Amino acid sequence: MGRVKRNKEEIAEDYCFACKDGGHLRVCDFKSCLKAYHPQCVGKESSFLETDEQWNCGWHSCFICKRSSFVQCFCCPSSVCRKCIGEVEFVQAKKKTKGFCNNCLRLTILIEKNVDVDSDGGKVDFKDSETYEFLFKDYWAIVKDKEHLSLTDLQVANALLKGDVLSCKSEKEKRRKVKAPIKRCKSKKKTYVGWGSEELIGFLSSIGKDTKEPITQLDASEIVKDYIQSNNLLHTNKKKKNVICDESLLSLFRRKK
Ligand SMILES: [Zn+2]
Ligand SMILES: [Zn+2]
Ligand SMILES: [Zn+2]
Ligand SMILES: [Zn+2]
Repeated sequence: MGRVKRNKEEIAEDYCFACKDGGHLRVCDFKSCLKAYHPQCVGKESSFLETDEQWNCGWHSCFICKRSSFVQCFCCPSSVCRKCIGEVEFVQAKKKTKGFCNNCLRLTILIEKNVDVDSDGGKVDFKDSETYEFLFKDYWAIVKDKEHLSLTDLQVANALLKGDVLSCKSEKEKRRKVKAPIKRCKSKKKTYVGWGSEELIGFLSSIGKDTKEPITQLDASEIVKDYIQSNNLLHTNKKKKNVICDESLLSLFRRKK
């Protein structure tokens, strides 16, 4: 036990997964989790660094109901279980068990697009070294590289998050989505047609997919990605990858790229 723990500490991350800053960190005890935290960032005293108390980080229990998590945010300790994912602003991306909370997705998209004002007009300062966003930007560079994530993955995830394809709940219930427990985020109202957003259903039918049966977020994400690839809509220049929106995609992403 002691040896395993020490080995893990040697390979664990050097930045606090909550605030993204360095310092004296406590490594999560969950199996192979290499996330590390400042005691104060997880509501503990500094003596927590020395205790042998078994402790699992937020990545392993749903932030809503505390049951075992199913999807973990790539960029922060938020995670949700299978049951709650339909209730919150959380989306799978690239893998079944990884994704983004709405806050991290918003920040990563801003960084990748190299802008500092989001679609709702909220300004984010990535240059002020005193801010969380500044540290987040560095942390994202590491995650992005390690997980091979691209702007396309983010945009697909964003379209899915806004479209909400997973839950088959009534209109009213959909509007009452719970956000990940992190500050300031607004989302636009959507019109739902059956199981998904008007935009998603419209997109799927425009490319000849059967939209009678609901599909999962991951399936939808694969379809959108295949579409982008097979139609050569991924535009790569030296610095960025950009998806060129044709008429079908435009309705989904809501703007010209
Ligand atoms: Zn911290
Ligand atoms: Zn952990
Ligand atoms: Zn849950
Ligand atoms: Zn997150």
